Amino acid sequence: MMLGLKPMTLWFVVGTQNLYGAETLAEVARNAETIAAALNTRGLPVEIKAQPIVKTPGEATDICTRANSDPECGGVILWMHTFSPSKMWIRGLSQLTKPLMHLHTQFNRELPWSEIDMNYMNTHQAAHGDREAGFIHTRMRLARKVVVGHWSDRKVHDRIDAWARAARAWHDWQGGKIVRIGDNMRQVAVTDGDRVSAEMAFGFTIDTFGVGDLVAEMAAIPDARVADLAAGYCDLYDVAPDLAPGGSRHEALRHAARQELGLRKFLGDRGAMGMTHTFEDLHGLDQLPGFAPQRLMADGIGHAGEGDWRTSALVRALKVMGHGLSGATSFMEDYTYDLTEGQEVVLGSHMLEICPTIASGKPRVEIHPLGIGGKSDPVRLVFDAVKGDALNASLIDLGNRFRLVVNAVEAVDHPDLPKLPVARTVWRCKPDFATACAAWIHAGGAHHTAFSHDVTTEVLTDFATIAGIEMTLIDDDTRLPRFLHDLRLGEVYYHIDKGFRA
Ligand code: MN
Repeated sequence: MMLGLKPMTLWFVVGTQNLYGAETLAEVARNAETIAAALNTRGLPVEIKAQPIVKTPGEATDICTRANSDPECGGVILWMHTFSPSKMWIRGLSQLTKPLMHLHTQFNRELPWSEIDMNYMNTHQAAHGDREAGFIHTRMRLARKVVVGHWSDRKVHDRIDAWARAARAWHDWQGGKIVRIGDNMRQVAVTDGDRVSAEMAFGFTIDTFGVGDLVAEMAAIPDARVADLAAGYCDLYDVAPDLAPGGSRHEALRHAARQELGLRKFLGDRGAMGMTHTFEDLHGLDQLPGFAPQRLMADGIGHAGEGDWRTSALVRALKVMGHGLSGATSFMEDYTYDLTEGQEVVLGSHMLEICPTIASGKPRVEIHPLGIGGKSDPVRLVFDAVKGDALNASLIDLGNRFRLVVNAVEAVDHPDLPKLPVARTVWRCKPDFATACAAWIHAGGAHHTAFSHDVTTEVLTDFATIAGIEMTLIDDDTRLPRFLHDLRLGEVYYHIDKGFRA
């Protein structure tokens, strides 16, 4: 389930010119429709819509301004079937605000060697038409993804799929709302940052609400709805006997259910895509909301603890990117290590709020003390997580700009954790523990992350390109000296690229 996902389409815009005559142009238009239909048939996260072919400067400008003003258009895929002189694209592309992909393909896979004539050559000339387009994109310093290959190739499809996921998350962020209940955790640096810069860079707003507003919303929920929801938990999870109806601590489960219903109403009324709260501001709440954010995350709502609105937004973005896949995406925190030499692993968890979409079995609902916050024991879902390839992503505020720090990891088996009262996952960092942690720390990556089994580094690379921010990738190819060199280069490049607009 994905709450609040906006409709979106991608536009397939094919460039040509009037030089070739009506018959050729009709063929170009037909081929554009064929490619769009084929890509849609293969299955993409969003539909691709072929647009009228572009033959003149006026049409190029018109299609770009129409893409900007169409609220459902989440990105533009460009392809030059024939030669389309690129000066005619300058005015349009200089105004385009939607994500841009350049598909460098050709309608026919194979050359008809024995029959090829000049007519064929003039109809199928993306080989040089797309180079003319690439020049003007580079000349205009346009950020875009370039995908190369025949449009029916699986690999080409996968490249488009990754970009479509990134574009969809970007589309979701535009006009998106993060609800922050309470402020940032006192004295913590990495979770704080400039909300004005964030809105300028990313398009979403972050608004703070007093916890009392949530408490009032919770109080207004009828008892019968609370009882229904609490009973429903027993069908979904293994509820600890003391929390189950009739159990000695069932009232705590009912309070958690009331928190969930109150939060759903509170966030729903504000059209929020994500939330954050803090254990330092819980006036009027009986327990720190943990179970409720876990349940909301499972429905696609971004969440991060301690007022960390930026990680909340990032969790939401990764949820949207992975929509339709396994769904295994969560807020995460690097919590503690096993430093057995050569087999170092990270135990990732949080004091409560790990998303049950990464659970490997049926989660248990349990209640345990929490040493911070000064409230009653909070209810939470406890589980081990699925194994396999995953990644951690952290979005940090460097003062003059943002950086996305990404580490490819592998979630692995681990011994039982019978006394650990929180959900957890254990991973091995790529390329190795020492390199990954040194690189992460040099890059300034946070302890809070968005963790996902669905999202690939390619999707995040595309996302960073669309957002116009630096991404530092730590994976099997990372070597620390080169990584540090790239950080220094990035410091210069991204400062100049953004100028004084950050
Ligand atoms: Mn935390």
